[in-house]
Amino acid sequence: APDSHGQNDDLLDRRGRVLAEVQEHYYARPPQIERGWREYLVDVDGRVFLDMVNNVASVGHAHPRIADAASRQLRLLNTNSRFHYAAIADYAERIAATLPDELDTVFFVNSGSEAADLAIRLAMASTGRSDIVAMREAYHGWTFASDAVSTSIADNPGAVETRPEWVHTVDAANSYRGVHRGEDASLYAPEAVAVIDRLAAEGRAPAGFMCESYFGNAGGVALPDGYLSEVYRAIRSHGGIAIADEVQVGFGRLGEWFWGFQQQGVVPDVVAVAKSIGAGQPVGAVITRRDIADRYRTQGYFFSSTGGSPVSSVIGMAVLDVIEDESLQENARVVGAHLKSRLEALGEEHPIVGTVHGSGLYLGLEFVRDRDTLEPAREETAAICDRLLDLGIIMQPTGDHLNVLKIKPPLCVTQESADFFVDGLQRVLSTGW
Ligand code: PMP
Repeated sequence: APDSHGQNDDLLDRRGRVLAEVQEHYYARPPQIERGWREYLVDVDGRVFLDMVNNVASVGHAHPRIADAASRQLRLLNTNSRFHYAAIADYAERIAATLPDELDTVFFVNSGSEAADLAIRLAMASTGRSDIVAMREAYHGWTFASDAVSTSIADNPGAVETRPEWVHTVDAANSYRGVHRGEDASLYAPEAVAVIDRLAAEGRAPAGFMCESYFGNAGGVALPDGYLSEVYRAIRSHGGIAIADEVQVGFGRLGEWFWGFQQQGVVPDVVAVAKSIGAGQPVGAVITRRDIADRYRTQGYFFSSTGGSPVSSVIGMAVLDVIEDESLQENARVVGAHLKSRLEALGEEHPIVGTVHGSGLYLGLEFVRDRDTLEPAREETAAICDRLLDLGIIMQPTGDHLNVLKIKPPLCVTQESADFFVDGLQRVLSTGW
């Protein structure tokens, strides 16, 4: 029978028996969710939860315009992308129009892992080389190539040691807890440049440099000012390609910028997107320059049956319409700024709050046991998330030490909901967890 979290033990048992063990779910005792609306989720007992973690349901759960677009198109036509229909061209034009002019050529896939994988293969194809330099502590996906460049120990226990020999890493440019903590954050870029220069000097100039253009996996950490322009300049000076993984941080979530790379004042050569662009429908894309795309052939065949399908394309366009018509990027900027200032105020009362990372509706509240040593408060963070669930708030930890609250609600979240979240958090921090 369902318990206080609308949980059904029988269903959890069945799930555990039939699904692979690695196919995890949030929480040891998760609520059984039946429906969603805007930034809310409702369990089978009718209990409402505030979903502060869901960047997949970017425009809000069960958005009627998304549902209508999907249902209308499903009744008309849904087929593989080799047929000739308007939606794929319409959507490709719309997505390219959100990017700088030179990024004019689109590949459609179905997920962030596929987009990251394809981005790597485009770098290899267009340069004829096979080495990739990537930032540590990142997550880019589970496929063979995207997994190879994923070195977050939280996601990939083998981390750096078990990477294939074509993967080279640079330090996570995290000015709060990276190797240069307390020092000048401008030290990270020259060190990354040195890794690229050294590889070139050894006769294995890299095909590309890849990272999230705003460090989402670490909890929404801005890269140091000028980092990407310095590293992109270096990779390009050796004939390599600059790849931006915008799967989490792109598409308006940062509030002030539609794309993460804009915060750094750069333009990448290849951009990988997914997740929020489909509002839950599997939609992924890689956008690049025509000359780079044209060289894909050396990698063999490209065909994605459902990438850019009629249904995926109309959903993708509906997502863009909703972002525009409901001013969701602006909402991310305004509600995000309010939320961030309230979270920062929590830090004045509660020493466990180390810092608040991020911008717009991509924020990371980092918990530490000691503000000098920055010892990660990992167990505390897990316990705080469990207590928040009791209070009706969905929140999860992120980062290599799982000590950062990953705050990335649907972009339609209201100020009242943001306040409900901070009030709940304040209660947990004041009363214990
Ligand atoms: N890149 C980044 C930055 C991600 O956060 C993720 C997913 N967490 C991926 C790629 C992979 O996306 P997907 O789960 O859609 O394959």
